[in-house]
Amino acid sequence: MRVGVGWDVHRLVPGRPLVLGGVTVPFPQGLEGHSDADALCHALIDALLGAAAGGDIGRRFGVDDPARAGASSLVLLQEAWGTLKARGYRVLNVDATLLAEAPRLAPHLPGMVANLAGVLEVGMDRVSVKATTAKGMGWIGAGEGIACIAVAALADPADLP
Ligand code: MG
Repeated sequence: MRVGVGWDVHRLVPGRPLVLGGVTVPFPQGLEGHSDADALCHALIDALLGAAAGGDIGRRFGVDDPARAGASSLVLLQEAWGTLKARGYRVLNVDATLLAEAPRLAPHLPGMVANLAGVLEVGMDRVSVKATTAKGMGWIGAGEGIACIAVAALADPADLP
């Protein structure tokens, strides 16, 4: 088994959709970034790549490729996972925690889990997405941005029959 960790953060700004785990969450602000700035997908990509010692999202996709302006990060996740799948890896499970003071994300978590499980081609019982706040402390607590931390456990192809 191989384990990877990923972390991402994006600033909340007016005039952008708030997309997390491929779910558009109704909110007056969205995350700023070159792609759709989906911090959950980005953290998960880094966790998956990390588990396979496959670099990171910046190295894989660049940070300012014009072809990826506004790109759906679910598609980036699909691409990243595709390269690992082709190397024989399987997802054992993934787990992520979103850190956001607002909006309340709980009602949207099942949709995120369904999206991620679909892309990773695993059952929803292998995908966990949680959300919590910073209890008013610091930049997350002030609503300046949203962060996500993710871990991924992969079955190592070297250990498979
Ligand atoms: Mg990011």
